[in-house]
Amino acid sequence: MANYQIAIDGPAGAGKSTIAKLAAKELGFVYVDTGAMYRALALFFIREKIGAGDIEGLKQALKNVEVTIQYEENEQVVMLNGENVNGLIRSEEVGKMASATSPVAEVRKKLLSLQRKLAEETSVIMDGRDIGTAVLPEADLKIYLTADASVRAERRYKELLARGENCVLEKIRDEIIERDRQDMEREVSPLKQAKDAVLLDSSKLSIEQAKNEVVRLFRAMGIAGQKP
Ligand code: C5P
Repeated sequence: MANYQIAIDGPAGAGKSTIAKLAAKELGFVYVDTGAMYRALALFFIREKIGAGDIEGLKQALKNVEVTIQYEENEQVVMLNGENVNGLIRSEEVGKMASATSPVAEVRKKLLSLQRKLAEETSVIMDGRDIGTAVLPEADLKIYLTADASVRAERRYKELLARGENCVLEKIRDEIIERDRQDMEREVSPLKQAKDAVLLDSSKLSIEQAKNEVVRLFRAMGIAGQKP
């Protein structure tokens, strides 16, 4: 069977990972969460007490870090120097550090080959900020998934509350807007809609509806059988 690639990019909290995971399950593809890789590196930098502005320090630290991916019961497990860090990378602190360090070219380079290698091995739905524009420019289907900032903030707020974290909606909204600004304005691989990406606005869609739309778009391409 040939390998297919679906790239999903978009701003924070648009529902990329939830929707991509469900669509991957339905299509029998592997879901690859590239944000988790940036978060794992960010966790390492936090632990090493290297500030996001210390570019030389970040570059040096990259020599001592290895991020790898394993799959356990179809779930992506991110390993940081051999340690499973899945449970440690979802905080706002790590998210902010990931966004602040992801503009560094060496950080991106470190993860790019891992991401491409995963896509060579099997059919993937990969989500992130630069998948359609930089990581998998030849992807069979590219989707730019977005939603209103207030809708995205509310979703993130509910997610954090459900995890028992203390949070304030207004603050989350401000942080989301700031994170998008950083991701869109950086020089290397900024977040933007690829020219050939389909725009999908999930503001008024349920998770199920958005997932169905991703699956429909892929099937509508008529390539769900053998790749030519
Ligand atoms: O998607 P998630 O919120 O986990 O991503 C965390 C941060 O990692 C993003 O804000 C972005 O700065 C960075 N990232 C990136 N390129 C990707 C995926 C994530 O720069 N492909």
